[in-house]
Amino acid sequence: MPASPIEGNAAGLPVVVMASANPDKVAEIALLMEDVVDIAPRPPEVPDVIEDADTLEGNARLKAVAISSATGRAAIADDTGLEIDHIDGAPGVYTARFAGEHATYADNVAKALEVLDGVPKAGRTARFRTVALLSRPDGSELVAHGVVEGTIAIEPRGESGFGYDPIFIPADSGGLTFAEMSADAKHRISHRGRAFRALRELL
Ligand code: IMP
Repeated sequence: MPASPIEGNAAGLPVVVMASANPDKVAEIALLMEDVVDIAPRPPEVPDVIEDADTLEGNARLKAVAISSATGRAAIADDTGLEIDHIDGAPGVYTARFAGEHATYADNVAKALEVLDGVPKAGRTARFRTVALLSRPDGSELVAHGVVEGTIAIEPRGESGFGYDPIFIPADSGGLTFAEMSADAKHRISHRGRAFRALRELL
């Protein structure tokens, strides 16, 4: 199907609606995309999307299509998974619910440290993987992927970021966790930074 143009704002930037309402993620994505698109917030009246696909890309598509259908505009969504090699790539698509259905960030961090208890550094390899997906009202879409390799720290360190940031040490950080890095430094190498820069290229 030929891709339709995205409706623009007064300044000519394409308007896209954010499928996520998570303020941590929205802030990161806005920083990465605001010079190429005019980002509109997720309309609060749209019901939550049940993310029951079995892949990150499937969940990103469910979210973006739901918001695009509800608003009649292009929508962008992303889905991220943490893959811990010691447990065969889990939690993956279940990353938000690693410690249970209503797990907090702290619960999930504690669970990751628990499954790696006693495992030496060499066995603590992991990666974050993000799929960023833009869906248009005509059903066409753009899909981009971003990955960052790293290891899981022995204990949480740092105050920045969110989620698993205090225990994820990206490979090129000189040993700092994401939570010990500035937002800019994180975005330069992060899964989400890489996925959204790739999506920018496709736009
Ligand atoms: P989501 O698919 O982006 O909602 O993310 C799924 C899970 O991964 C959530 O529990 C997030 O806290 C976690 N997560 C996503 N992105 C990051 C990140 O950049 N740093 C740390 N944790 C993240």
